[in-house]
Amino acid sequence: MTLFAKIIRREIPADIVYEDDEVLAFRDINPQAPVHVLFIPKQPFATMNELTDADAPIVGRLVIAATKWAKAQGFAEDGYRVVMNCNRDGGQTVYHIHLHLLAGRAMHWPPG
Ligand code: AMP
Repeated sequence: MTLFAKIIRREIPADIVYEDDEVLAFRDINPQAPVHVLFIPKQPFATMNELTDADAPIVGRLVIAATKWAKAQGFAEDGYRVVMNCNRDGGQTVYHIHLHLLAGRAMHWPPG
């Protein structure tokens, strides 16, 4: 079981900021911006490569949950960045897909 599955099961603690039937969001333990929250589906997909057409609603829920939370927190107009890393070259370290929501400072481009 991955770390994030354990967070969903409340077996390890996390600073949870949002939850619904399909999505959980909690603050990243090693934040890369003043706001750094991870949105994860409760359904475990190891990588984005496992997603199929049938999973489009889940991916949509992840994105919409993040944008709604950004608006509710008041930084949506200033802006934010959403990142999903896939496998080694993408820099993925936890094999339960997650969307990084980063905000609170100007982001750089290109990303490292
Ligand atoms: P990635 O490198 O895209 O797989 O992102 C994994 C993220 O999970 C990293 O930004 C880590 O800092 C974060 N992370 C690892 N362990 C925890 C934890 N226990 N609670 C919250 N975030 C974590």
